[in-house]
Amino acid sequence: MQNPDFSAAHSAAKTLDANDPLRDVAAQFILPKGQIYLDGNSLGCMPKAALTAVNETVQNEWAQDLITSWNKAKWFDLPTDYGDILAPLIGADMGEVVISDTTSLNIYKAIFAGLSLRPDRHVIVAEASSFPTDLYMVEGVLASRPGLEMRLEQDGNILDLIDKDTAVVLLNHVDYRTGKICDMAEITQYAQEKGAVVIWDLCHSAGNMSIDLNKNNVDLAVGCTYKYLNGGPGSPAFNFAAKRHLAAIKQPLSGWWGHAQPFEFNTEFQADHSIRKFLCGTQPILSFRAMKAGLDIFSTLSLSDIRAKSMALTSQFVTLLAEFCPELALLSPRNANQRGSQVSLTFHGAYPVVQALIKRGVIGDFRMPNVMRFGFSPLYNSHADVVKAVEIMTDILNTKTWQELRFQTRVAVT
Ligand SMILES: *Cc1c(COP(=O)(O)O)cnc(C)c1O
Repeated sequence: MQNPDFSAAHSAAKTLDANDPLRDVAAQFILPKGQIYLDGNSLGCMPKAALTAVNETVQNEWAQDLITSWNKAKWFDLPTDYGDILAPLIGADMGEVVISDTTSLNIYKAIFAGLSLRPDRHVIVAEASSFPTDLYMVEGVLASRPGLEMRLEQDGNILDLIDKDTAVVLLNHVDYRTGKICDMAEITQYAQEKGAVVIWDLCHSAGNMSIDLNKNNVDLAVGCTYKYLNGGPGSPAFNFAAKRHLAAIKQPLSGWWGHAQPFEFNTEFQADHSIRKFLCGTQPILSFRAMKAGLDIFSTLSLSDIRAKSMALTSQFVTLLAEFCPELALLSPRNANQRGSQVSLTFHGAYPVVQALIKRGVIGDFRMPNVMRFGFSPLYNSHADVVKAVEIMTDILNTKTWQELRFQTRVAVT
């Protein structure tokens, strides 16, 4: 077989990178040496400023100031202070976003918050294709409140499942397996016409596109900060609640951080009236400081530049794969407008191919049963990265390296 010629692709990438308005942003990250990291959809790269922030917090606020840091360094206010920094990235207003805990926990709180707004209804509608923890948390809600019912959309239209009994509709904005974008405007409007409350899970869209929660009149939302927001491993997640709902909402994890007067140490719980009512207990301050470094990077960037670059990167990847690796089937939408910042492919040897790519420094991931996922971060991935990744993929497929025994063994975290 003749060696495939990538020279045209390389020179096109050079021009695209030179004209990229975000070309200097990558310098704000520590990028793994000798790797093309296409897994920012699972864990974003580390902002250089995170190292300084954590160091300073450890050395000054923890080692020296200790307990006084709760006031002096405003530790107690970090969930809402940082929530206000995140708010413009998702089209929310000040006072509508709080950062704390994990996405899974926040989904639990959000579902109950939705149910508390519709006490006379008993159905929760969700998608079978959801990230599984979302559905597991619905199960947990059903187990703790008898009389509720979950309706799962399998292959049909989710709108058909929403009716007068529907209290809450839980949706993933971008599908974690396929990268398909779900129509926020259409579904929110339809569900609300039926009287239901909508919760959007923004894990795979926050940080890679503009999200207009308030323009779309969204009720509730959740998301994580360690994917496209580059907050670091285990960085805290967020809850959004529209201002109009704040007074009425109740959530069951009634810990002291959500109390209206936590330092009165009263015997009875009385919920805070603000977005703080989503808080439960003491938060991981070091993780908060690291995460802030990720959020700060966005302060000077335009989300439309970010989305434009994201679409250009994924489109380039899709086009080159069609030319050089025709044996891979595209699982993501072909139209970039319907696609998040990832490209998913199916192939019978998906698992070993991903292992062979990792060995060659191209980091993607595998999802059951036969899916390869590649996430593109507009903040630090380049068009040159895309060409190199496809070149290595082409080599692995053409030489059949992926069939070697060493790439077949499953590791615990894929
Ligand atoms: C990543 C992701 C989660 C993760 O939940 P954690 O509790 O943060 O581990 C939840 N939902 C979706 C849609 C995700 O993509």
